Amino acid sequence: MNIVFVGPQGAGKGAVIKEVVKIKPFDVIATGELFRKEIATGSALGKKLKATMDKGILVDLNTTLNVVKGALKNKKNIIFDAFPRNVEQAEAFSKISKVDKVIYLNLDKQTAYKRLTNRLTCASCNYVTSKLVVKNDVCPVCGGKLFTRTDDTREGINKRFQEFETRTLPMLEYYKAQGIVYEIDANQPLEKVVSDVLKVL
Ligand code: AMP
Repeated sequence: MNIVFVGPQGAGKGAVIKEVVKIKPFDVIATGELFRKEIATGSALGKKLKATMDKGILVDLNTTLNVVKGALKNKKNIIFDAFPRNVEQAEAFSKISKVDKVIYLNLDKQTAYKRLTNRLTCASCNYVTSKLVVKNDVCPVCGGKLFTRTDDTREGINKRFQEFETRTLPMLEYYKAQGIVYEIDANQPLEKVVSDVLKVL
């Protein structure tokens, strides 16, 4: 079964998925994370990806599809975090695999913006927290180093919102036409969002 998670930046897709997979046995394919891993290798592809991602724009279709195809191997029940992200990717993906359900974590822009400008991510375990909660750069889960993502600048955040509105929202319409979109209010405590998601999985 393939589940796609969609939501604006800051809706908490990563945090919700982390809780869901503790309860339901899904593999996770998160394109943003796969790209960040490639960047960390220092490869030529990684340098190209960083330049694109720092601008807040989408990585090209071929590169994205290749990364997803590589990650798909030997996996059966998959949660996709932020892939597909537009109609073009959804149509291309429909030729490789099928999407069973789309979980739309809906969050207003103002709340998302506040979350993102304070976001801290752990370099070791990918835990996401907030400068409003943690006052140093030590991950409360694993002791790793917390960092601010290089695309979490005012400019990067605005550009990603624009990408979401102009390219991802039309993709939701594409999946709504198939009757497989489940909308969840992401402006609730994490446990409530997770239980709402579990009800529809
Ligand atoms: P995320 O970690 O989901 O916030 O993604 C960070 C950045 O990675 C995005 O702003 C894009 O530049 C890139 N990215 C992640 N997922 C995709 C995707 N499905 N298609 C194209 N670019 C992506």
